[in-house]
Amino acid sequence: MDFALSAFSAVADRVYVAVAQPAGVNIGLVVGTTGALLVDTGSSPAQGAEIRRAAAAIAGEVPLTHVVVTHAHYDHCYGLAAFDGLVTLAHRDLVTLLESAPPSAEELARFGMTDADLARPTRTFGLAAALDLGDCHPELLHFGRGHTDHDVTIVVPERGVAFFGDLLESAAPPVCEADSWPAEWPKTLDGTLGALRRGFVVVPGHGEPMDREAAFMQRAELHWYHDKAVEIYDAGQNAAGAWREDWPWPKDPSEAFVAQAIARLEASGRPRKRKRSLTLHVR
Ligand SMILES: [Zn+2]
Repeated sequence: MDFALSAFSAVADRVYVAVAQPAGVNIGLVVGTTGALLVDTGSSPAQGAEIRRAAAAIAGEVPLTHVVVTHAHYDHCYGLAAFDGLVTLAHRDLVTLLESAPPSAEELARFGMTDADLARPTRTFGLAAALDLGDCHPELLHFGRGHTDHDVTIVVPERGVAFFGDLLESAAPPVCEADSWPAEWPKTLDGTLGALRRGFVVVPGHGEPMDREAAFMQRAELHWYHDKAVEIYDAGQNAAGAWREDWPWPKDPSEAFVAQAIARLEASGRPRKRKRSLTLHVR
């Protein structure tokens, strides 16, 4: 597996992003006057250590003090063990997940890891947490379920930057899997997107930074897809074969999102609202 790490490049005043392979995940760095915050940790403790060295070199005199993990997926979370001695933060449901459904030995072995290499954050929160980096105060926010049930977004008001983890993606459509919550996803985004001023730099989990307008557009697409999934569900149909060429995303991510939306609708027990015709009883 290729664990390459790009150099950190500036996306705003003393805010940097590096790209870590194998997943092309964005690693964020916010340097204040008294401390620095790293956003996400890469795919293994070894990669985390490389990220830590690179971030410390960029931060210079300012110590790396905080790390936030946006969610538990390997490319964001598995490097956490490299940040011993720092304040490391995540939503409390990330810890609940690691305790109740830890990754399998096979999954960890893909990244050269065992269970002992998978660190837990030192601090968790439920709705919000604010950090003090001296001249800037990143806000960590959880407005509900979306890509997972524990996504954290990070807003840095003084620098005009926000990190969204995998709630947004610019390299491809957002990834929707069995742990995603399609119906709630757009409203979860609203909580953070609504707070962004014009000109904010939006850093997605994967791909180039976006502007606020592109982020709103992806939020609209997510909402459109959920409406479409409800329509398909009510018609008694399934995701497979539903895709049409005029849909916003390519076939595979479209059908993955619709399939998961339908799975959640089924699990909720919501009846399919089929058009009914009168039954004619003939004696
Ligand atoms: Zn993810």
